[in-house]
Amino acid sequence: MVLDKAQKPLQLCDVPKPKPGRGQLLVSVKACAVCRTDLHVVDGELPNPKLPLIPGHQIVGGVEQIGEEVNSKFQIGDRVGIPWLGWTDSECAYCRSHRENLCDRARFTGYTIDGGYAEFTVADARFCFHLPDRYNDIEVAPLLCAGLIGYRSYRKTGNARRLGIYGFGNAAHLIAQIALYEGRDLFVFTRPGDIATQQSAQKLGAVWSGGSDEMPPEKLDAAIIFASVGPLVPMALRSLAKGGVVVCGGIHMSDIPSFPYVDLWGERVITSVANLTRRDGEEFFDLAPRVPVQTKTETFPLDQANVALERFRAGELSGTAVLLISNAGHPERSEVTQPRSQHNAN
Ligand SMILES: [Zn+2]
Ligand SMILES: [Zn+2]
Repeated sequence: MVLDKAQKPLQLCDVPKPKPGRGQLLVSVKACAVCRTDLHVVDGELPNPKLPLIPGHQIVGGVEQIGEEVNSKFQIGDRVGIPWLGWTDSECAYCRSHRENLCDRARFTGYTIDGGYAEFTVADARFCFHLPDRYNDIEVAPLLCAGLIGYRSYRKTGNARRLGIYGFGNAAHLIAQIALYEGRDLFVFTRPGDIATQQSAQKLGAVWSGGSDEMPPEKLDAAIIFASVGPLVPMALRSLAKGGVVVCGGIHMSDIPSFPYVDLWGERVITSVANLTRRDGEEFFDLAPRVPVQTKTETFPLDQANVALERFRAGELSGTAVLLISNAGHPERSEVTQPRSQHNAN
């Protein structure tokens, strides 16, 4: 499924099977989860995508061929996960200071290099992950971005005991499970009036849930904003205790309105999270099966990618959309993996 031009539907077309270059794996794609970033790319909200482009950066597949000079981390037939961070130069000041997520020359899967809305893709083996056996291909796909970048956002909140989450979508649902596992008090903010989501957050174990226009019953030590809505930033800032941090977890956000300095005073911090490092991935894939983080998914065949994107945009999905490609070994569509356990439900 190819994006020829922003703001146009993806086109189903035949393209040559990619060949693995030096250091690359040829991967037969089994499943590719749809991320909000895919919508931002398709909608032209992110600058300078590769065009034409095969989107998709939460890719699960099998190694079919190994290019020259790949070390022994993967073998033919291995299951592999391919994330958003596709390549870095390993030599800029950021890469040399353990901040490869900020690499000046980084390339991104499904944005500046072709991704996983396809039967095959190639990926730099150094940036691919082994995936926990506990999950099948569908279950694990949403962990590759919503999980990883959500996890990086969560780590930026330090040891915050009272943690707010604005926007309870895919990433929030995954990170909330880790926060509860680690004993945080969770406060969930949804669109005003979205009672169903507020109730599901409380069922998961949130101590409080309400509209984003409400103040929590106590001040928060940190808040993560997963919604791409700039006006939430000053609102989240006002809900913080002294020394608290607001973490903006998305790649794109509408403009942030001005606010009085007194809301930032008291060593409050506003920060963002950009991309991921390989270390984030390794930590997360070690932790996720121990929680265990459960994903909710809704599957679509690859050629229905436009339908999946449209339903995501309209807020009509009941879980993360996962595109199934050819021989994934699972039923055709609409399988929903429900959480198998819940924490502190009451
Ligand atoms: Zn670099
Ligand atoms: Zn993503």
